[in-house]
Parts: sequence; C-alpha cells; structure tokens
Amino acid sequence: MKPARFEYFCPRTVDEAVDLLAEHGDEGKVLAGGQSLVPLMNMRLARPAVIIDINRIDGFGNLREQNGILCFGALTRQRAAERSPVVAERCPLLRDALHLVGHAQIRNRGTLGGSIAHADPAAELTAILSALDGEVTARSAHGTRKIAAADLFVTYLTTALDPRELIVEIRIPALARGAGWSWMEIARRHGDFALAGVGVVLTVRRGAIAEARIALTGVAPTPVRAAAAERLLVGRAPSDTLWDEAAEAVRAAVTPDGDIHASAEYRKHVAGVLTQRALREALSRTKEAA
Ligand SMILES: Cc1cc2nc3c(=O)[nH]c(=O)nc-3n(C[C@H](O)[C@H](O)[C@H](O)COP(=O)(O)OP(=O)(O)OC[C@H]3O[C@@H](n4cnc5c(N)ncnc54)[C@H](O)[C@@H]3O)c2cc1C
Repeated sequence: MKPARFEYFCPRTVDEAVDLLAEHGDEGKVLAGGQSLVPLMNMRLARPAVIIDINRIDGFGNLREQNGILCFGALTRQRAAERSPVVAERCPLLRDALHLVGHAQIRNRGTLGGSIAHADPAAELTAILSALDGEVTARSAHGTRKIAAADLFVTYLTTALDPRELIVEIRIPALARGAGWSWMEIARRHGDFALAGVGVVLTVRRGAIAEARIALTGVAPTPVRAAAAERLLVGRAPSDTLWDEAAEAVRAAVTPDGDIHASAEYRKHVAGVLTQRALREALSRTKEAA
C-alpha cells in the first residue's frame, strides 16, 4: 500500500521545523520514527498534505540529567533510552517498560516524542510519563511551554498539543533513591500492544509505605493514574491484604473498552491482578535508607 501524495520538508534545525509547522501545521504532520504515522499513511487513514521530517535535526536525540530529571530530546530512539546506562541507573521503570514496546526493530526507529505525541491508549511511555509526573516541552512560533502529563493526554490518539507545536523535550523525574519499581503487562504475543499494563513505584520508610505511584495503560482512552489506590497505600504496612485493596481501587478507577483482543471485563480484572503483582515486585526492590 502506498500513501497519498504529500509535500516533503526536511528541516535541519528546531527553528526551521517550528517555522514549517507555523506555515503548514493544519495540513501537515511531523515525521519522527514513522512507526505509527507511516502505517496510518499507507492505509490512507492519515493523508497529510505536508510531511515535516525531523530526523535530520542535529542533537535532537540527546539525553541529559538535570537536577534529578532525565531530559530526553524528542527524537531519542526508544531503543537508545532502553539501553542507556543513565536510564538503567536512574529510572529502571522506564527501561523495563520500553523493553516491551513492540519489537527491537520498531524501537530502533520509534522515538520518545513520537510515542507521546501519538498517545496510543495502550502505549507504555504515556503511562510512565503519567506515573512519574513527567512533562513535555513544546515549541511553536509563539514560544515554548511545558505540558504536564496530567494535562497532556485528552482521549484516544489525542493530546493537548496544538498542530503547530513540536515536542522538543520529554522530562521524566528519576526514581527516588531506594524506591522499588515494577512494570507488568499482558499481551497476546510478544511485541503486541498490551491488553493492560501497570507501572508501580514504592518507597518504604520504617516499615510503612511512604510514597506510592501507580499508572496503567490499555484500560481507558488515556493513561490512568490510580490516585485512590495510591492514597490507600500510603502510611500502611505492606501486606497481601493491602495489595488486594489496592487492586480493587485500581479496578474501580479504570474504564476499559472491549475489542477483538479482550473484553472490557477481562481488562478490568487483569488490571487488578497486574497491580498486585507489580506491588509485590516493587516492594521486593525497595531499599530502606540506613
Ligand atoms: C508492529 C508495531 C508494534 C508496536 N507496538 C507498540 C507497543 O507495544 N507499545 C507502544 O507504545 N508502541 C508500539 N508501537 C508504536 C511505536 O512505539 C511508535 O514508534 C510510536 O507510537 C510513534 O513513534 P514514532 O517516533 O515512530 O512517531 P511517528 O510515527 O513518526 O509519529 C507519530 C505521531 O506523532 C507525531 N509526532 C512525532 N514526533 C513529534 C514531535 N516531536 N512533536 C509533535 N508531534 C510529533 C507525528 O506527527 C504523528 O502524528 C508499535 C508499532 C508497530 C509498527
């Protein structure tokens, strides 16, 4: 299958890309890794008149750490982040989730910015951004703004980004020292999108949970931050009964759809089971400060 005709631009700087978006944003699309956009174009589900290819922008795929925040250039390949020693040390939750995004070939091309802008309801990265209260920096001809994960994801494949805005950076806070983490998901086959997935971060002090973060994917039109489940965990001693309570709170928070891959009831049930498992694994990885 072939895409409909389009005009092609290949800017060399962010300024150039932003100018092109100002001119063509309504009828144009940014091309990053192409792993979602190109299939959509080939199936003629997307017919942008203009393509703005950001792959030649120098330094757009760099990672730096700033005051405990991992700052990824929008063009950082998913595979590069997955294999980064900095990510492994400072945010292993992100590494583990990225490992389950499609296949290595897809992650070699797919970018962090592309996955977040695409906002697939079953994406891993959107849930990680949500769990860790990350944000994106977006630029347009009118300036730069930061958009928190909580404000970014609107519904299926829809974000708060304006069509003339370019994500230039993704900012993900590193895990607190001693925090335990777990990413758990279930998919029909290796490499498939998750039917449901959950990311958990736990911090324990003096035998009680001091901080809990839980976000899910695949169980609503956007990633779900399970705030009620987090609240009921904090201040309590970890136990299987507590994990059961958290699982019930997660099931109450999700609103999955059924489709040809799984029913809504199955997704809801599995969201709870995965949460219990992830809480157990995250706890086993916590280290109390001496
Ligand atoms: C077989 C297969 C399996 C997959 N499995 C998974 C999976 O399990 N989990 C998962 O999360 N993903 C999966 N994906 C999707 C993959 O992660 C894509 O890489 C990702 O969704 C899009 O990233 P990209 O860089 O390829 O973006 P592109 O496809 O180039 O772009 C996607 C969208 O984002 C916009 N965009 C891209 N970059 C920017 C930017 N910097 N600023 C503003 N807008 C931008 C584009 O205009 C487009 O609308 C799979 C893909 C395939 C083909």
